[in-house]
Amino acid sequence: MEPVLNLPLVLKDCDWIVTQDPERRVLHKASIKIDDGKIIEIGQNLISSRKDETMDCHGKVMIPGLVNTHTHLAMTLLRGYADDLELKEWLEQKIWPLEKRLTPDMVYSGALLGCLEMIRTGTTCFVDMYFFMERVADTVKEAGLRGLLSHGIIDPPNKADKEKDRKKTLALLQYVKRLGEPRIRFILGPHAPYTCDQDTLLWSKEIAEKEDTIVGIHVAETRGEQAKSEDNRKARVVDYLDKIGFLSERVLAAHAVWLTKSEVKLLGERGARVAHCPVSNMKLASGGVAPVPEMWNAFVPVGLGTDGPASNNSLDMFETMKMCALIHKAYRWDPTIVPAQKVLDMATIDGAKCVRMEKMIGSLEPGKMADIVLLDLRDPNMVPVHNAGTLVSDLVYSANGFNVDTTIVNGNVLMLNRDFRTLDPSEVVQGVTKSIKDLVDQ
Ligand SMILES: [Zn+2]
Repeated sequence: MEPVLNLPLVLKDCDWIVTQDPERRVLHKASIKIDDGKIIEIGQNLISSRKDETMDCHGKVMIPGLVNTHTHLAMTLLRGYADDLELKEWLEQKIWPLEKRLTPDMVYSGALLGCLEMIRTGTTCFVDMYFFMERVADTVKEAGLRGLLSHGIIDPPNKADKEKDRKKTLALLQYVKRLGEPRIRFILGPHAPYTCDQDTLLWSKEIAEKEDTIVGIHVAETRGEQAKSEDNRKARVVDYLDKIGFLSERVLAAHAVWLTKSEVKLLGERGARVAHCPVSNMKLASGGVAPVPEMWNAFVPVGLGTDGPASNNSLDMFETMKMCALIHKAYRWDPTIVPAQKVLDMATIDGAKCVRMEKMIGSLEPGKMADIVLLDLRDPNMVPVHNAGTLVSDLVYSANGFNVDTTIVNGNVLMLNRDFRTLDPSEVVQGVTKSIKDLVDQ
């Protein structure tokens, strides 16, 4: 299907616009004009010319597109396949045996379903780590989303296979370059400090610097990981990563649950960023809660991630926002510890900082890319809106992704009034059904 409306486009008379700009302004009865993929004007008395296309936004709230800083998109295929299990049993008996049977076509169909769900629930940019990533890039191109994609590197036991695996990362790099689509970025993805040796970690860092991109990596997800690191390396995970010279402002550490205060401080000093995945951490019962308030005190940018749909089981960032706000309150016995505004920041502008794209996305301001989401305020769970001051709370505590009715990336309308413009949902589901048949039912 072809996208999209012809632009310039004026999104007119929104009930509310939550800009997430530096003053965190919330505008009432306002409009936004976009042209050539960018926001060019925003305000209450915006005048549209006759040649502009207009979209009536009465009864809607507009927010910046959400940024999911950590997922494994194709794992939609494994959604609901194995729940309520111990992590070891979950991985070794359920997830890994199935993943061994995955083909590029299966990854394509699973990732396409992930794109559909993200468009439906208001995510416009995401960070992904998996394999057969060229096919994931194909889905991002087709769907019209923004994606930062890495081949997940897990060191094989012997050196020759290690070289082969590195070639997969470099092949993805070349593939993304050939696509020449600015919405799709290549990033590095060493899986974790316990699955990659020092050599691989530093190789990833080197390529990231050369290509001016970031490195996504799982860090300190479980207490066991820290215990093993202390046993094997006589150092805690973050201390080890710093000692080998891996940490930098290019590092995006997923989870970062089991950290000491000095490790948090070190992340801050080195400029590293964190993808906080509260739903996955709770579901896999890793225990503990990531020290997010301490990260803020140490000036670590913290974004939100869903993690893969096998350990969540959804890609709905609204759900993740709510869970994030709740888990810290419950854990610290303090309802003020993680306020709604800060949670919305994590899902938008702070997420953009995590992927070093805060100059392009993460807020609604002139000059930024038009990555925009509209939610329907006529849905029962969105009534009432008391005033501008309560709106951010409404978004974090009352809303869910299915209140989203329009999703725009780069000025292109991917979903309009709940009608998908780039993907055909029935075709996507058909593809997934076939993949599941081949994968699970054999
Ligand atoms: Zn992960």
